Amino acid sequence: LIRPLGEVISSYTQLQTGLGALARVQEVLALDPEHDDVPERPGRSPVVLRVPSAADPVPLLELDGVGFGYPDGTPVLSGVSFAVPAGSRVALVGPSGAGKSTVLALVEGFYPLSAGAVRWAGTDTRELPRAALRARMGYVEQEAPVLAGTVRQNLQLATPDATDEQLWAALADVGLTGVVERSPLGLDVPVGDDGVLLSGGERQRLAIARSLLSRPALLLLDEPTASLDARNEGLLRDTLAAAAADRALLVVAHRLSTVLDSDRIVVLDAGRVVASGTHHELVDTSPLYRELATAQLLV
Ligand code: ADP
Ligand code: MG
Repeated sequence: LIRPLGEVISSYTQLQTGLGALARVQEVLALDPEHDDVPERPGRSPVVLRVPSAADPVPLLELDGVGFGYPDGTPVLSGVSFAVPAGSRVALVGPSGAGKSTVLALVEGFYPLSAGAVRWAGTDTRELPRAALRARMGYVEQEAPVLAGTVRQNLQLATPDATDEQLWAALADVGLTGVVERSPLGLDVPVGDDGVLLSGGERQRLAIARSLLSRPALLLLDEPTASLDARNEGLLRDTLAAAAADRALLVVAHRLSTVLDSDRIVVLDAGRVVASGTHHELVDTSPLYRELATAQLLV
């Protein structure tokens, strides 16, 4: 009796994981009423957004005086301005509750702004179809949803036509090839109790691989916190370096060591940008950044 019971529990856990992810997808859809969306024009091919070159003075993404509060109350962001130039790596750091994840949600267009603007290649994103915007962006949440099912199913969620070669290349980019190669089932190995068990860091890297398959011009990444051990953190850093090769990154970083080599680090505190610069500049100029860096033994 014990073994079948174990199997039932294991399937149940998988189902739960699947349902959890589904619930989140539904939550996101619910959060995404048709607030001011620009319809694609019937009979026309879908809008494809411009990606400026690195030499272009217009940044890929720009937040200009962004203000926001959740529907239930107090303001969360106020006067938030910063740019992500094409091909650059920008990190968002700051204490828990500062509003970092909210910034990513606003870039994705999940909520209407209460002030300011978000611009893509110089155009206010409210003038762009949200589907066109999201087609250019990859968004990997802090608690990356990995569905029950196989590695292949997880990777092909957004790109069902991706070839095996592309899937293996994406796994290589995030350092997960070894984990999958160890199973005779290869890409068809289930994720979870009866297949390949993934740590929190590995789950997020799988979600990054999924996102990279869509070749986004901008990757938004909310770094995991607790689940990241030193080895996984090193791998995540390598993954980011690989991901940054031909796209821009906007990364919420809980561990400054992940983002020391960013082109720009934006420090957010209580919904405001209090400093920005490189690691070395900020250590000199921002007391809050110095405090965060000191707490993490980086200075
Ligand atoms: P961070 O990612 O920097 O830790 P968040 O952007 O998650 O901060 O949260 C900023 C503030 O907004 C916090 O006070 C948080 O409680 C609040 N908040 C976050 N998400 C929601 C939500 N869905 N509804 C209402 N308030 C929220
Ligand atoms: Mg957060």
